[in-house]
Amino acid sequence: MDYDVIVIGGGSGGYAAADTAQLAGAKVAIVDPGPLGGLCILRGCMPTKTILRSSDIMALMQRAGEFGLSATGIQADLAAIIDRKHKLIREFADYRIGQLKNPRFTLIEDKAAFVSPHEIEAGGKRLSAKSFIIATGSVIKKIPVPGLEETGYLTSDDVLELKEQPESMIVLGAGPVAVELAQFYQRIGTQVTLIQRSQYILSFTDEDLARPVEARLQEEGMTVYTGTQLQQVSSDGKTKTVRFMHIGEEKTVSAMCILDALGRRPNTDGLNLDVAGVEMGEWGIGVDCAMQTSQRHIFAVGDVNGLHEVVHIAIQQGEIAGWNAAHPDQTPREVDERLTTNVVFTDPQVASVGLTEKDCGKKKIEYLAASYPFDDHGKSLCLGETHGHVKLLCDPKSGEILGGHITGPEAGELIHQLIAIMYYKGTVKDLLTMPHYHPTLSEILTYPAEELTGKIK
Ligand SMILES: Cc1cc2nc3c(=O)[nH]c(=O)nc-3n(C[C@H](O)[C@H](O)[C@H](O)COP(=O)(O)OP(=O)(O)OC[C@H]3O[C@@H](n4cnc5c(N)ncnc54)[C@H](O)[C@@H]3O)c2cc1C
Repeated sequence: MDYDVIVIGGGSGGYAAADTAQLAGAKVAIVDPGPLGGLCILRGCMPTKTILRSSDIMALMQRAGEFGLSATGIQADLAAIIDRKHKLIREFADYRIGQLKNPRFTLIEDKAAFVSPHEIEAGGKRLSAKSFIIATGSVIKKIPVPGLEETGYLTSDDVLELKEQPESMIVLGAGPVAVELAQFYQRIGTQVTLIQRSQYILSFTDEDLARPVEARLQEEGMTVYTGTQLQQVSSDGKTKTVRFMHIGEEKTVSAMCILDALGRRPNTDGLNLDVAGVEMGEWGIGVDCAMQTSQRHIFAVGDVNGLHEVVHIAIQQGEIAGWNAAHPDQTPREVDERLTTNVVFTDPQVASVGLTEKDCGKKKIEYLAASYPFDDHGKSLCLGETHGHVKLLCDPKSGEILGGHITGPEAGELIHQLIAIMYYKGTVKDLLTMPHYHPTLSEILTYPAEELTGKIK
């Protein structure tokens, strides 16, 4: 065998897998055609969060009067926002490229394709390995909406390069990427219309957690249609028009451009999975909790298995697969699904760890729930950030926290308190009794914890 482990794809999941396997003593090659850096750094988490900082500051400046300040002539310069993003992303990407080019790995800058269950072809050679870790990520999914392809649309990749601000935009979809980018454009002064099929935006979570975001988007001037069915997209050369059904009525909306943010799909193109004997699952390449595919020596991590399109999970899965690939004779390590976390970087942010009420309903898990609103919390009132609420779910007998959900200011930071407690299988009583500094946003979590502690049998 040429290598102990060949990692196919050098994004966040692939790099974590290669790093872990090499540190465990394995001889590792990474295959990636580039551009090197991975989705999170080049076109995902980091560029979007960089530009959102500009629109968040702009929204705050527009509220200056509320805080006894004056700010006039507030204007966004999209070209300058994108230039700031380019500079930061170049730095992040260069760092990752340096890691991939470290001589402790062999980096092959090409696409990989299986030619047998133990061999791939890459860089003009046949390469064999004891184990493979597939980490080829995801690509934008093409949804067959009549007229969309002919009319033309932007993707999340395109808008991250756009330097000329459109006057108006139609956003198709209402998942995290769609809603974050829609709010960015609305806040910098583009008139945005968001069109979504589900009954509420961010439909992966409980409805009560998504509604405050929808309300905020509407307050900021965005038009939001939920529960729609897309019919036809067309263009008159100048503007683009979307026709759709909404509450039994036909509607049309026109704008300068369309952002298609209807989702991504696992990238298995050209891998020849059938030759390797690797089977697809419900969402992407089928894997178990040890990240093993239908071929036990082939693992699949990150977006390509379609379980969660979230980067820290791609990294965790990569670490688990890297360790398991380097220790084929030991009991495999497994992912702890209890702590699955999501954050949406809208304002208010939406952050969740563990089970939602929807999950409990589906899985028939008994739970107690309690919520508390930010508009009744001292620190939130001081900050003027009163949208949303926190919600805790716990086991009705032991009080162990099963899920924690926050829609509100700094939710993406606050959720880590709940992750830490859940990591140690803590209870609502633990959360209530541990000290919380006053006045902080964090102490809001003690209110539902107190209510639930009183209800434990
Ligand atoms: C706009 C946007 C915003 C996002 N924001 C967030 C966020 O805030 N937080 C968050 O957690 N997640 C976010 N995500 C999701 C996150 O970026 C992904 O879940 C994560 O980066 C996936 O990592 P990965 O390692 O699975 O794949 P990738 O990082 O995409 O890596 C795949 C690699 O495989 C290589 N490759 C492809 N085909 C082959 C082949 N045949 N042979 C060899 N190599 C190949 C590619 O070149 C690439 O380098 C966002 C995504 C988008 C699109």
